[in-house]
Formats: sequence, structure tokens, C-alpha cells
Amino acid sequence: MANQSVLENAQFNYERAARLLEGEIDPLLLDKMRHPKERIEISLTPQLHDGKAHFFDAFVVRHSIALGPAKGGIRIRPAMTLDDITGLAMEMTWKCALIGVPFGGGKSGIVADPEQFSAYDKETLIRSFARNAVRHISPLVYVPAPDMGTNERDMGYIKDTLSWSAGHATTMGCYVTGKPVILGGIPGRREATGRGVTVCVIEALAQIGRTVEGAGAILQGFGNVGSVTAKSLAERGARILGVADLHGAVYNERGLDVLALEAHAAKAGTVKGFPEASAIDRGELLEVPCDVLIPAAAESQITAQNAPRVSARLIAEGANGPTTPKADEILAARGIPIIPDILCNAGGVFVSYLEYTQETQQEQMSESEVRTRLQQRITERFHQVRLLAERRKISMRDAAMLHAVKTVAQALEARGQLP
Ligand code: NAD
Repeated sequence: MANQSVLENAQFNYERAARLLEGEIDPLLLDKMRHPKERIEISLTPQLHDGKAHFFDAFVVRHSIALGPAKGGIRIRPAMTLDDITGLAMEMTWKCALIGVPFGGGKSGIVADPEQFSAYDKETLIRSFARNAVRHISPLVYVPAPDMGTNERDMGYIKDTLSWSAGHATTMGCYVTGKPVILGGIPGRREATGRGVTVCVIEALAQIGRTVEGAGAILQGFGNVGSVTAKSLAERGARILGVADLHGAVYNERGLDVLALEAHAAKAGTVKGFPEASAIDRGELLEVPCDVLIPAAAESQITAQNAPRVSARLIAEGANGPTTPKADEILAARGIPIIPDILCNAGGVFVSYLEYTQETQQEQMSESEVRTRLQQRITERFHQVRLLAERRKISMRDAAMLHAVKTVAQALEARGQLP
């Protein structure tokens, strides 16, 4: 069976939750949540270093604004559609609701290969996006953050472009999160997603009677989420057995030296060729026995094809949508629990919320305060979802979706209908 698209997977997960909530929620509200609020396609024609204008497609989707302004990262990827961004925006709606921040769900994307750009061209592309999407980005409309292919530096360019467009030295309020601390960012935002994944992994290991010390982890993806997760798990005594990225994968059964791997990847642009490990096929790495498998790269990586051979004791979804619904079913039958993405990687959006409030109130938060609040919130929501899953005898994904969809429905109900 061909894998379904990101949007189809998001819709599938939503329909499961909608069925579980039948009779509890007004069908009109269920229908409202089924459809995105707004989908925008923007064409960009920045002039790059060769002096020529190049064409790029870009998208901004606001799936829901029931709880507040749409929140969600901006990604740069070579193959991506408006539907993919819609599916990811829908996931953001549930993530914000589940983690308890007053944001709706959004996402944006630029169709381009980030690895093909010089620093100059990437900055030009990002600034072109910010200029062209100026009507769609604001603290009360949509607030982007880093995602695949974008980073802290790019968020700084977005803030600068938007202040410049208004003729101001800075923006009034928070237009973008995950920006450099010197420009009003918050300490610990870059690490927030990976640290949140680590908190979930530790709690989930405890549920199966294991501690993090000595636990073996395998990660797919060594960008922001993957590298921070690997480092923070290693700091707590886990063994990082293998890591894959787009170019290759490395494995060492005694555990990789993550800091040395990071230094190698910074130089080589990939984990491939790391001398203190053996090379392994990228796909094969996902099937190597381990305590926890952490997909932290792209969507639809654990599928009906490889799920029967996954040999992890649990899966922690660092990436958005890495497990297809068919794979979910297979893993459930095999008794392999999954910490769903909307819980597992929600640390980033939670700390984005702290950045948003800090900027709105013109305050400054310390990194230790950010870390403490992140740890508390993720732990609390993890157990809330776990208990709901146990009580209703459903998966953690269904429980997380149930909680999130109910919360958004409550907000829609409270807003009422415009005449
Ligand atoms: P990134 O661009 O920093 O890193 C992506 C990594 O994945 C790179 O190492 C890349 O080589 C690797 N990769 C891509 N496709 C791959 C494939 N098919 N097989 C193996 N490796 C592959 O991106 P990121 O910010 O770390 O995001 C990773 C995932 O986490 C995405 O799904 C993103 O939506 C999700 N996420 C990110 C954040 C955040 O704060 N950055 C928050 C929540 C969720």
C-alpha cells in the first residue's frame, strides 16, 4: 500500500479522535476543526548571488485560530505541497491545545533545497519570504519559528525584515520566536524541543521499568531536534547507539561520543564518515534493537513496510508525523508504545510561548527558569495523556488527540457564532 500524504495522515488521526468524541461535541464544531481557516500560496522571486531572479513557491497555512494566533514553524524543503503544510498546521493546532498554550495552529514553507544555498542566498530567500508574507505574520495573526531547514539566524532575519518594513528599530510585540537572544529571543529555545523529547523518553522508560542510565537510543535526524536530544540523553547516561541523517548513518554498539559526532557533522555536513563508528544503511538503522527509537527528521519514516521489523521497546516521535497510521496499527499489535509527536516534540512550542510572553511584557527570563517550566509542563502533560490512555484503553496518540480536540472545541464553543 502506498504511504499516505502528511495531510491524509493528519486527517486520519483527527477522524479517529472525532469518532471517540461522537455525541460529546457538536458536529458543526467537528466540521470546523476538520477544515483549515486559511491557506495562502505566495510566489517569491528573490535576486540571488548570480544577479538573477529565481522563482520559489511559498505557503502559509492557518489551520485554527480558536485558541489564539496561529503558531508553527517555517520549513524549507525541496519537495513540499500546500497540502503538506496544511497537515502540519493541523498538527500544530492539536499540539498547542495539548500543551496548554493560547495559540492556534499554523505552518509555513518555502519549496527549495536548503543544502544548495550559500549563506547569502539563504538570507535573501528568507527576507524575500518575510517581505512577501508581511500581511500574514504578526503577534495576532501567525507567529513563525524554526523548523526543518531554518534556524535561529533565519528568525533574526525575519524580525529584522519586518521591523525594517515598518520603518522601526524593532517590532512591537512578538512576530517570530526562536530568534537570537540578543534580538529578544529566549535562552533555551533552540534546545527546547530536544529537551522536551528527553523528558518524555525518561518518563516513558520508567513506565516500562527502565532507567535512562544505560538505555540504548537510536536517532534518525541530527539537526536541531536530533542533536539536542542525543546530547541531553547522553548527559543523563543513555547510550546513543546510532544516528542517521539524510546522507548516511553510523552505529556503535558501545555508544557514540555525541560531542565528537557533532564536531564531525559540523565539519563534514553529515554524520557519515564519523571515524569512531561503523557505517550502516539508513533504513536498516531504524530496525536495530534498542530501548528507544527516536525519529527526529522527516514525516512518514516508520511505515507498514518497516514497522514489522522495528525492534525498539518504545518510540519517541521527535519529528512531526514520522509514523504512518498503518505503522501505528502494526506497532500497537506488537506492543511497542509510541509517544506521539504532539506531546513528544511540544517543548519547542511551549518555550516559544514563554518567548512570546516575555517579549509582550518586555521581561527577560533566565535559562534555568525556562528549563524548569519546560520540564514541569512536559512531565505534567505526559502523565495526563498516559492516564487518559489507560482509563479509556486507547493509545497515547488517541488520548493526546482526544484531549486536544476537546480543548479546541471548548474554545470554539466559548467564542460562539458570529451573526
Ligand atoms: P533540521 O533541518 O535541523 O534537521 C533535520 C535532520 O533530519 C537533518 O539531520 C537531516 O539530514 C535529517 N533528515 C532529513 N530527512 C531525512 C531522512 N529521510 N532520513 C534521515 N535523516 C533525514 O530540522 P529540525 O528542526 O531538527 O526538525 C526535525 C523534525 O522535528 C521535523 O519533523 C520538524 O517538523 C520537527 N520539529 C522541530 C521543532 C524545532 O523546534 N526545530 C519543533 C517541533 C518539531
